[in-house]
Amino acid sequence: MVLAYIGIAIGVLIVLILIVKISKTGPREVAGVDKFCKKCGLETRGMNCPKCKKNPNHSASSSH
Ligand SMILES: [Zn+2]
Repeated sequence: MVLAYIGIAIGVLIVLILIVKISKTGPREVAGVDKFCKKCGLETRGMNCPKCKKNPNHSASSSH
């Protein structure tokens, strides 16, 4: 099965590219997890959210 080997090779290549990207820019930027605030969705680029920093207990888990 040559196709299987090609698939594995492409997979390994993608993983290697991801590792290089992570080592260059940092895992947060690549994953995009902390680019936006988890609470209000404001773009913080890994920094503390200015909105939620002012009132940290306001928009936590209220269904209002
Ligand atoms: Zn926020």
